[in-house]
Amino acid sequence: MDRWQREIKIVLALAFFAFLLSYFVGHLTGILLVISVILLIRQSLVINDLERWLSRGAFRDYRDRKGIWSDIYYHLWKIKKTDKKRKKKLSRMIDQFRKSTDALPDAAVVLGEHAQIEWTNKAAREVLGLKKSDKGQRIPNLIRSPQFVQFLKGQDYGEKICIPSPVNDNTILQISVVPYGVGLRLLLAQDVTQIKNMERMRTDFVANVSHELRTPLTVLKGYLETLLEMDDVPKGFLRSFQSMSMQTERMQHLIDDLLLLAKLETKAKKAECVDMRDLLQQICHESDLLEKDERRIELNLQSQANVRGDAQELQSAFTNLVVNALKYSPATSPVKVSWYKRSDGVLCLEIEDFGEGIAAADIPRITERFYRAEVKRNQKITGTGLGLAIVKHVLVRHDAKLEVESQLGKGSHFRCLFPQQRIC
Ligand code: ADP
Repeated sequence: MDRWQREIKIVLALAFFAFLLSYFVGHLTGILLVISVILLIRQSLVINDLERWLSRGAFRDYRDRKGIWSDIYYHLWKIKKTDKKRKKKLSRMIDQFRKSTDALPDAAVVLGEHAQIEWTNKAAREVLGLKKSDKGQRIPNLIRSPQFVQFLKGQDYGEKICIPSPVNDNTILQISVVPYGVGLRLLLAQDVTQIKNMERMRTDFVANVSHELRTPLTVLKGYLETLLEMDDVPKGFLRSFQSMSMQTERMQHLIDDLLLLAKLETKAKKAECVDMRDLLQQICHESDLLEKDERRIELNLQSQANVRGDAQELQSAFTNLVVNALKYSPATSPVKVSWYKRSDGVLCLEIEDFGEGIAAADIPRITERFYRAEVKRNQKITGTGLGLAIVKHVLVRHDAKLEVESQLGKGSHFRCLFPQQRIC
């Protein structure tokens, strides 16, 4: 029988008993009151017992309880048991998580809303020099590198930064931050010392080789020029000398571009206010002079804005783009160079040509070093394949982006997009 029904039946039986008793002795109200008080005292005692049972953790045996209370005890015991199981599982999971994060080679730090340390793994304590007792401290008070403090404040975590480890200056750490949850951030630090050393070795090697090749090449060029100026050069040799001269010229460009790239990777950034109108007028004028007869460049300066950066680097990048537009389009078609501000505040240098364009498959690769689209190689248009790599590097150093739109047979749009912060 349902325990609840049994409980009601007891109350009804007691009420019936009260009526029966009052039939013989009278005092119905009094009898009912006495019975109610007895029932109330009984329930209070049971509730008191329940409270004590709960306060002791609800683990002791409950089975000696009777009636509906037995059910209540059973349900509470079950909830408690499930809860205990869940807690055990959770603590096992946390333990496993802790072990796995401690085994991670990269440092991981959970930061709270005010950049205070919430949690660190073992590597964070080793490479960032953080202690377990630093929990709750603001990380900028412990890692004081200005670059790091600025990066954390900036809230723009698309990029990563490299800083020396606070415990060892020779270790280079790459820091990235991933925001998650409400105001929480996961800071990751990876030891990139080896990669950086290899990169530096590669850059140094290329720069040294290029530098060493310069002197013999200048000597060769000098002799070739002298030979070409001689009146009595046998006809058979003249063509060979001319071809040798062209090839040394090409090598010279290659070396210059390689040296420029190496410089872009190592040189400190400049932040002078570059007069864009002056710079573009000069570039267009000089590039136009390279053309045989026609003046093809149409310069359209719509904005007065200037850019903060390195004038020499910007000149190299823009010249490469303008010369490419001239080089890869018919000698009679125009090349449009425009400098304007977009509605979203971004400054844009656009170079448009009406040449044969670039195949969609080539576009993502044209900024790679030495990449030259197959068609151009066949057409024997000379080049080093380093021009757009230089453009990309220069733009990255100016927080700018290169956008390329091109259609085969129609022409290309190259856009250099400078963020508002670069305006001066
Ligand atoms: P290159 O010295 O070969 O010009 P770049 O790095 O400047 O080297 O350009 C890489 C390749 O991108 C070129 O070989 C060419 O295939 C393609 N390219 C660059 N600019 C243009 C353009 N304006 N029109 C068509 N193709 C272009």
